[in-house]
Amino acid sequence: MVDSVLSDGMVEERLDSIGVDRRTFLKFCATLAGVLALPPAYARNIAHALQTVRKPSLVWLEFQDCAGNTESFLRASNPSVADLVLDILSVDYHETIMAAAGHQAEAAKDATVAAGGHFVVVEGSIPRGQNGAYCTIGGKSAVQILQEAAVGAVAIINVGTCSSFGGIPAASPNPTAAVGVSAVISGVPIINLPGCPANAANITATFVHYLTFGALPALDSERRPLFAYGARIHDNCPRRGHFDAGQFVSEWGDEGHQKGWCLYRMGCKGPQTFHNCPTVQWNDGTNWPIGAGHGCVGCSEPNFWDQMSPFYARLPKVPGFGVETSADAIGLWLAGATAAAFAAHGGVKALQRRGEERKPARGRIEEQEPAPEGGK
Ligand code: SF4
Ligand code: SF4
Repeated sequence: MVDSVLSDGMVEERLDSIGVDRRTFLKFCATLAGVLALPPAYARNIAHALQTVRKPSLVWLEFQDCAGNTESFLRASNPSVADLVLDILSVDYHETIMAAAGHQAEAAKDATVAAGGHFVVVEGSIPRGQNGAYCTIGGKSAVQILQEAAVGAVAIINVGTCSSFGGIPAASPNPTAAVGVSAVISGVPIINLPGCPANAANITATFVHYLTFGALPALDSERRPLFAYGARIHDNCPRRGHFDAGQFVSEWGDEGHQKGWCLYRMGCKGPQTFHNCPTVQWNDGTNWPIGAGHGCVGCSEPNFWDQMSPFYARLPKVPGFGVETSADAIGLWLAGATAAAFAAHGGVKALQRRGEERKPARGRIEEQEPAPEGGK
């Protein structure tokens, strides 16, 4: 459980110092209740928790990454999610934003870890090839740094697909033998917030859930919080009506594209991807990829770079694939299909070829596809 304190400075007062008034703070809490799929009344619980809990310490590690998750997090604004969260949390080590450097920075990290009860946030994959020589910081490999930081941690929170599942660095042929955190660490709760990048709203909501309820959020079999990854893109997509009506984009810029029809034929992986992008959106709710006219590439799914490509080819047949399908059911199918492909053809390339060969095949979802307007 999170300790409660009333004398260690109210969050509200601290927010005042960064120009966030009470109305904005309450609106922020209401938004987070929505992200957490809680009734609006829970905004009061969240506000109370954020005003009274002790700030948990956090060590943010960056390994084989592009820093896109940090960028996404820091660019959030109106109000600055980063400002609010950095005020709610005690970020004791973050290579991109901390002022300290060298031995001073390492000492801050070591002191936080030694005290225990901290969170570890990981961004980027962990290269295990050449004894970890592809990523070293302060003379230590990423594997070593991660294992040391995990000792005594409340949880490890992986932001982005690379730390969650290996991501693009782990795509075939994976020259650095990159893996996600769960391949290196055991015995510590691990939460994956995949996405390329992770959505700042989901990062914030994960911490706020812990601060409000004193517990980590419920997860699916890929260790993703259900509040953010419990529903398919396809099931909340505003273009879904066009899918059901058989109105599909057939070429970029055609009439259907201009009218906002379904992108399934252009390779959209929304039917196979679990993420709350349609409801939370990006850039403070400004828009999201499908809203901007591009299909989902499935960036929050394991091995998306290999399994979801070619990105502009329509999905292959997926047995048991219907509106009632869950992430765990699809995960089981993908695991089986991957194992079968490896056994039969000896590698990821075989899986990719199989996907291409299946392009003309009509899967269950295609069987549901009515004839598009105009007979195309
Ligand atoms: S296929 Fe893609 S664009 Fe079409 S409804 Fe599903 S998620 Fe939306
Ligand atoms: S719409 Fe798909 S590809 Fe785009 S951010 Fe969401 S999960 Fe990733």
